[in-house]
Amino acid sequence: MRLRIHRGAHEIGGSCVELQAEGCSILLDIGLPLDAPEPAPSLLPAISGLADGTNPNLLGVVISHSHGDHYGLGGLVHSSVPMFIGPRAKTMLMASTPFIRLPLDPNALQTYRNRETFSLGPFAITPFLTDHSAFDAYSLLVETNDKRVFYSGDIRAHGRKSYLVENLLKKPPSAIDTLLLEGTTLSRSEDRSSKSTTELELENQIFNEIRDAPGLVLASFSPQNIDRFVTFYKAARRAGREFIGDVYLAHILSELNLATLPQAADRKFRVYLPQRQRSRIIADQAFHLLNGLGASRIYLEEIGSKPEGWVMLFRESMMPDIDRLPRSISATLLYSFWPGYLAQENQRLQRWCEDRGIPLKLLHTSGHADTQTLIRFAKALRPKTVIPIHTMASAVMERLIPNVVIVPDGEWHTV
Ligand SMILES: [Zn+2]
Repeated sequence: MRLRIHRGAHEIGGSCVELQAEGCSILLDIGLPLDAPEPAPSLLPAISGLADGTNPNLLGVVISHSHGDHYGLGGLVHSSVPMFIGPRAKTMLMASTPFIRLPLDPNALQTYRNRETFSLGPFAITPFLTDHSAFDAYSLLVETNDKRVFYSGDIRAHGRKSYLVENLLKKPPSAIDTLLLEGTTLSRSEDRSSKSTTELELENQIFNEIRDAPGLVLASFSPQNIDRFVTFYKAARRAGREFIGDVYLAHILSELNLATLPQAADRKFRVYLPQRQRSRIIADQAFHLLNGLGASRIYLEEIGSKPEGWVMLFRESMMPDIDRLPRSISATLLYSFWPGYLAQENQRLQRWCEDRGIPLKLLHTSGHADTQTLIRFAKALRPKTVIPIHTMASAVMERLIPNVVIVPDGEWHTV
């Protein structure tokens, strides 16, 4: 078997790895580069048959998780090339289609199952459910007759599913020839021995903020980050407040339909319909999205009458909604994204908060493994070779982890 990284050897995002054996190829991930505004054919890796379906030896694309930097070019892949993703990741994408423009049609995706091996030509692929900020994210083991490659995908060991990684490290797959290991956090300059804040520690920090906040708490996070939703939800409940989601979040949770996750229809949280979603639902005549939410719906009047009773999911497009509340109502915004976004794009949000006298507090933990976890990961899997991916600091990985080989984008590496 041989492999080449098409994108990701020296960047975070846009990941795509080609594996080749017996004249056949499969791809692991087909991501959109983070700096690309939208998918374009020119961004597609130069792989025979990927765009036009003319290569019968291109057997499929296996997507590790539902973040755009891993599946965002999937819509440009020819329909004759099968694409695979985790079942709940697919459900989540399907549930997102009424609300956001996706880069691919999730109906086109086939699904694999956790720890169930499936075959594409000479390749046997086993997905391992892992801990990441994307729901239903996987690492992927790919075997041929004589070689075994393990692709970490995006991982961490400080989320609500950290046990998945710990279990893998306790009983790792054996005889790994090559480990493709993500190194997202390695370009951070902070102390490499320090551990990431766990999702549970973050819950405590958020709880403290909610407890001490005088009025309405606005919770700014991605509804697709289910771990973070649970963190805010639990912190709100502990602080004696009700959580207010939007119709998008309520719809995702309803479609996932997991006993472990609260449902708006069961009145476990309230649902506000932001103006932006309301316009969209009317334009698309998608009123079914409101079915079953009647009793849990909440309107600005009730929110404004008891601001200290709520923790409300907030997104930038909801600034006009909040502006309709009396200015005398105090609010606190808990910002739970990568802080770089604030500096890059969200000046508008900061200015709005300043103008309204809303304190903006950063409460976040990364979706990616810290240095010590990466070292533990490599040590447990004992691969002959480690190839860095999804990192801007492959040289740092080379210093920290034995047997690292840096393979630049586009270069073949024999496993
Ligand atoms: Zn990623």
